[in-house]
Amino acid sequence: MVHVSDLSWPEYAERVARDPVVLVPCGALEQHGPHLPLGTDAILASAVSTGIAEAVGGLVLPALAYGYKSMPKSGGGAHFPGTTNLDGGTVASLVRDLIREQVRHGVRRLCFVVGHYENQWFVTEGIDLAMREVGHTGVRIMRLEYWDFIEPATIERVFPDGYPGAALEHAAVIETSLMLHYQPHHVRLDRLPDHRSADFPPYDMFPPHRHWVPSSGALTSAKAATAEKGRIMAEQFRDSIVAAVRREF
Ligand SMILES: [Zn+2]
Repeated sequence: MVHVSDLSWPEYAERVARDPVVLVPCGALEQHGPHLPLGTDAILASAVSTGIAEAVGGLVLPALAYGYKSMPKSGGGAHFPGTTNLDGGTVASLVRDLIREQVRHGVRRLCFVVGHYENQWFVTEGIDLAMREVGHTGVRIMRLEYWDFIEPATIERVFPDGYPGAALEHAAVIETSLMLHYQPHHVRLDRLPDHRSADFPPYDMFPPHRHWVPSSGALTSAKAATAEKGRIMAEQFRDSIVAAVRREF
């Protein structure tokens, strides 16, 4: 059992006494095209975290189910029904409070697994603010975006026609393939978006231009997604992240 929410308090206390790495999946409630659920980022960050925890004897906290604001050039933007955005300060406060509470219970090793592109700097801010409060306890905190661990050999197998990059991969081949691997019942295969990649200029506009974003909500085609590609990525991400976690802790 690796999920903290499934443990009783004596079980949690007994596990924490063994100094586990506690993983914190950071997701969002955000549109992921017509074919994936709004909770995709939390689902995938939790699945990745679970694989890591099982390998290193760690624990997984419930995922942060909401995240920083979806941006047009990385998540499609706020105008899609269901996309539910937190202010940056709220995300940072959630992260800071969560660290303070885990440290209060005796946790000294935490790893934030970010599954929502826009969360990156606000999770970092929450960690940094928390370290001012609890840094003297010896707590050590790792943070990562799981897709950054993709290796050239995996890119060659998953993207034989070229890798569009993590930002444009919103609701596309990586996330759709991983969902087909972890939770196939959540993928509407008859609604896979298949259109050209969005072509964004190198600046942002406020209010944002909706016409910059493909109407599907995906930023590039998901047509090439398969469960097999999902398995390849899931296994490589797990192995690479486990190696990094072991190296740091
Ligand atoms: Zn996503």
